[in-house]
Amino acid sequence: MAKLNIVKQGDPVLRKNCRVVTEITPRILNLLDDMVETMRDANGVGLAAPQVGILRRIVVVECTPGEVYEMINPTIVEMDGSQVGTEGCLSLPGKVGIVERPEKVTVEATDRFGNRYSVTGEGLLARCFCHELDHLDGVLYCDVADRMLTNEEINELYSDDEDDDE
Ligand code: ZN
Repeated sequence: MAKLNIVKQGDPVLRKNCRVVTEITPRILNLLDDMVETMRDANGVGLAAPQVGILRRIVVVECTPGEVYEMINPTIVEMDGSQVGTEGCLSLPGKVGIVERPEKVTVEATDRFGNRYSVTGEGLLARCFCHELDHLDGVLYCDVADRMLTNEEINELYSDDEDDDE
């Protein structure tokens, strides 16, 4: 496994549409491994392929340690309710925004063995799925945020909360 370089806001790769994965090659499997390692190393709870410069529809999510979702060609098939909360992104270091997301989201995706599966997430997991899937269409959370926090607000937030960038 290898740690990959995380692309930062301003890089055009974050604004492109990602291509569907048509074949799960050894290269794709390596990418999944490297993305998980990169996400963990950066203390993130999710990472999308364009964030490491790869324009493929692939995301990894780990909101609960050890509970990793590897998602190839993911799509949201159902959403319900709404939640308003803070969100960050490994590609926008030092920034936090207030974003409204569905409270509950069901995603269908393909796993590394080529099997299609479905997972329903609530709360942070639902937020994370939405955030990561947006990346595959070139959308960043700052595009959909109600507003971005000021530096003062961010300092307050980090003084009593954990960092959970996606
Ligand atoms: Zn992100």
